[in-house]
Amino acid sequence: MSYCVNCGVELDNTAHSCPLCHTEINNPKQPIDLTSPTPYPRKKGELEVLKKRDSAIVTSVVLGSTALSCGLLNLFVFQNGRWSLYIIGACLLLWIFCIPILIYSKLPIFISIFLDGIAAAMYCGIIAYQYPGKGWYQNLAIPIILLTTILIEIFAIYLKMFKNSILSRACLFFAEVAVLCSGIEIFIDLYIKHNVSLSWSAVVLTCCSIIVVTLTTIIKQTRLRNEVRRRAHF
Ligand SMILES: [Zn+2]
Repeated sequence: MSYCVNCGVELDNTAHSCPLCHTEINNPKQPIDLTSPTPYPRKKGELEVLKKRDSAIVTSVVLGSTALSCGLLNLFVFQNGRWSLYIIGACLLLWIFCIPILIYSKLPIFISIFLDGIAAAMYCGIIAYQYPGKGWYQNLAIPIILLTTILIEIFAIYLKMFKNSILSRACLFFAEVAVLCSGIEIFIDLYIKHNVSLSWSAVVLTCCSIIVVTLTTIIKQTRLRNEVRRRAHF
């Protein structure tokens, strides 16, 4: 048995250095035994996989039991209205959002964004089932969700597929914000007034256009781009 010459802690015969003070072990009477099992696992990452699976199980059980118990309460105890549908829908929405983080991390980002879009459409569908209104679901909710999903997909494809800098990402981001805000106002106008007249989104469009034009100029001019990178430290 060896002891650390620095802190005196008892050492395992497989250790190369003291686990407390990291002093190198050099005991000629007891060389390091590489064949014995070490007190610490050699494989890294095993605990992480297990933890992830555990949190996926806990999340699924919590969401599933919440949805089930609210459904049963609605059916047998508080029977006024179909209120449990909102909670069941929210649980399903959260579960779908959790898939890429907890349950199946190898899911391509494009598919998880697509699933998130469907989940959002489904949740709005539950609300529309209770309050159909004047066709707000198909004329307002679906176009806005579709536009948002397409824009997020474009951003994800750009990040994943193309070599890009922070400046070009920011440029695409502001261009998409402009398209999204204009799109939302157009859909609202068409739904309420049946004609399009941009007001608040025109302000967003103007600000974003100024930013996009400025960023594009910086990206195109190599000297300017390098100067901005040097000063902003990226
Ligand atoms: Zn030590």
